[in-house]
Amino acid sequence: MTGLYIGGAWGPAADGATFATLDPAEATVITECAEAGPADVDRAVAAARAALDDPAWAELPAAARARLLWKVADLVEEHADELAELETRDNGQPLAVARNVTVPGTAEHFRYFAGWCTKIEGSVLPVSYPDTLHYTRREPVGVCALITPWNFPLMIAAWKLAPALACGNTVIVKPAEQTPLTTVRLVELMALAGFPPGVVNLLTGGPETGAALAGHAGVDKISFTGSTSVGRSLVHASADNLKRLTLELGGKTPSIIAADADIDAAVAGNVQGALFNSGQVCAAYSRFYVDRKRADEFTSKMAAAADALKVGPGLDPATDLGPLISEDHLMAVDAHVRSALYDGAQLVTGGRRAEGPGFFYRPTVFAEVTDAMAVAREEVFGPVIPVLAYDDPDEIAGRANGLEYGLAASIWTNDLSTAHRLAARIRAGAVFINMIHVPDAATTWGGYKASGWGREMGPYAIDAYTEVKGVWTHLGRV
Ligand code: ADP
Repeated sequence: MTGLYIGGAWGPAADGATFATLDPAEATVITECAEAGPADVDRAVAAARAALDDPAWAELPAAARARLLWKVADLVEEHADELAELETRDNGQPLAVARNVTVPGTAEHFRYFAGWCTKIEGSVLPVSYPDTLHYTRREPVGVCALITPWNFPLMIAAWKLAPALACGNTVIVKPAEQTPLTTVRLVELMALAGFPPGVVNLLTGGPETGAALAGHAGVDKISFTGSTSVGRSLVHASADNLKRLTLELGGKTPSIIAADADIDAAVAGNVQGALFNSGQVCAAYSRFYVDRKRADEFTSKMAAAADALKVGPGLDPATDLGPLISEDHLMAVDAHVRSALYDGAQLVTGGRRAEGPGFFYRPTVFAEVTDAMAVAREEVFGPVIPVLAYDDPDEIAGRANGLEYGLAASIWTNDLSTAHRLAARIRAGAVFINMIHVPDAATTWGGYKASGWGREMGPYAIDAYTEVKGVWTHLGRV
């Protein structure tokens, strides 16, 4: 059983409630976790508020804050194998992904933002009043609720924890109920690193815990990654005290394959772009616009490449694609597949559950998909590849921009002007030309339109976790 971490101490929920977290490859319970209720949320918010003004944190020099974050990165690396295995068990991702992406990505995020601690600057601005000195200060926003999803639990926790703490905030992290275990372990490591009590707090629980946190008047900011529908509910929950919000929400990334593209390279990249983490990625390539002249070739090669992938438990080194996160999610993915069939899409491969006690689904390719079909419009968050054809390159930006989402887009071409013209016309927070989607601590991550508000990572995260104050001084005699 895992506990809550509030004000520097571990303990159960006030009412003793717990919930189970499952191994999605085995469909068995790994352990029980404390389920935080309103009383626990109150306590965590009070601890985070107190820590905000505690000189142990508020007056800690920036260089010392940097050392704490750097120490977390070291501890993550020291415990890399353990964290990777735990992530694979709780989330299902292949161990190679946990080892090569999740754990190093987590450590790198803490290092990148450790570097920022000593570089969060104000400026001296040339105001037009005589005898006046004006400068700006960047100050912490305050108590930040960090609510994370189940698809990359450890890494996304780091995307929020590292910049929030670099900027001097205090935090309450709430991992998704399906995958709390690596966040619990990370918080244990952060406690070891030596953050003062109350700076880092952890509440495990489900939507009710998240909603109690989101509606709490003592929370100044929410950073959330998850579904667009919950994102909308957070906007409402924040209305009373006008919390600051960073929202990284759903996506339906178009991947555009031009007539001149190197199809074999495009297939290799797009299979990864679509099926990485079994398609459970907010930026997953999930609608494929292929020049009609190349559509059949692209589709049959994608189907062959998808078929060649081994679906199995993440702990098996031979596995390419792990399970989906839950039976409910598998049923939702299957419902998207049924609706595509009903709408007249042509199933090329997959379209069914794979064998095993866990939540395995065959990678699925559809041809003859049209823009009107739900499978081309709705986020599936699973291993489903709908291929659409286009005739006129000039129509493609409009079709790519035709949905409410705008998280990412991908373009496959050897023609520079096609690539950069489209990159400029597509309304999305990231455009990947001839490559798979990747996050990097040094640059922006986030979406246009219903894919979210604000940006994570890079210097943009510093904006997201600070308030700017203007300080005016009259220099003449008073
Ligand atoms: P998904 O649809 O991918 O499961 P969700 O958006 O439902 O993602 O969940 C992402 C995170 O948001 C999880 O930590 C979940 O517990 C939390 N959550 C779900 N509903 C709410 C809510 N109404 N308010 C705050 N947090 C919520």
